[in-house]
Amino acid sequence: MPLDSLLDPPTRQLLARMPKAELHLHLDGSLRPATALELARERKLLRGAEVGMDVAAMRARLTAPMPCRDQRDLLRAFDLPIRLMQDAEALERITHELVMDVASDGTRYVEIRWAPSLHVRCGLSLRSGIAAVVAGARSGAAATRITVRLIAVALRTLEPSDEMAMARVAVDFLADGLTGFDCAGREADAPDPMRFAAAYAIARDAGLGITCHAGEWGGAAQVRRTLELEPTRIAHGSPTADDPSLMAELTARRVTLDLCPTSNVQAAIVPSVAAHPLARLHRAGVPVTLSTDDRTVSDLTLVREYDNAVDAIGLTLGELWAVDRHALEVAFLHHDEALRVSLLAEFDAFAAAEPLLSGPGAVFPAA
Ligand SMILES: [Zn+2]
Repeated sequence: MPLDSLLDPPTRQLLARMPKAELHLHLDGSLRPATALELARERKLLRGAEVGMDVAAMRARLTAPMPCRDQRDLLRAFDLPIRLMQDAEALERITHELVMDVASDGTRYVEIRWAPSLHVRCGLSLRSGIAAVVAGARSGAAATRITVRLIAVALRTLEPSDEMAMARVAVDFLADGLTGFDCAGREADAPDPMRFAAAYAIARDAGLGITCHAGEWGGAAQVRRTLELEPTRIAHGSPTADDPSLMAELTARRVTLDLCPTSNVQAAIVPSVAAHPLARLHRAGVPVTLSTDDRTVSDLTLVREYDNAVDAIGLTLGELWAVDRHALEVAFLHHDEALRVSLLAEFDAFAAAEPLLSGPGAVFPAA
């Protein structure tokens, strides 16, 4: 829980216990510091004063400043994790451990995303890299009995032709649980997501769910231009709250924003968690979900972000529950609707026994 949380113990316990669905979580932003240190030593990646670093020092090294100057500054925190994740063994282990960590939040369904093209610098093939993440997700899911799906990310600053090649490999893993396609990276340096329209077409034609990062730079206009890709979800998109006509359009088109308040503070696009527009968007009928974005880079857990949503942002428990449940409704489970139905039934059974969750706001505004 946040150290300054004012929530009472029963509410905190409920936030920890309630089943959760997390849709916006980056593999390379969520390494365990102890694992990062071990991998860095094994692969001889520590130099100079870093050679003697301990786990606490590695944790500090992997956590981005709060706040950073901007999104570009925030993304520097990913440089070391990417260097550590250049072989199949590291990718599989880090994915497995992330599923274990996610399960400790009471999460029952998670989508984990990463950019396969960033993990081929030392000779690993795209196919072997994706297979390693799939293997880690599968073993993690077996160990925790949570449901895991994967999202391949095209990097904004790479060449569209390279990301078309990545998409062609990624779609071969659909039956292995890779069910979504995203685009992320330095928005100021490559603002137009339509550069990747061809890669998206490959993903969409193969049946992957479509999402895209937007609005960590450039405001509501960046969210609006992303609609050209016809996504069903947008990662972040919080500046939508500055543009009433865009809010109305997302509501009408049922495009969900996968929001991460703490990460947005770190990227310096909102001044504080309390000022994040999550509650305002939700109450206006814009479909939203709540995630961490990066557990390690933001030094965060989903339980703590749920605490923030209630304590700092002011969602009622009923509203938070509606946001949580909505994540299952828009999860990239479109190839396994029976599984979606069974997860929704599990969530509904939990809520039926918890009057606080069926209190004010528990009905999704525009549902
Ligand atoms: Zn993200």
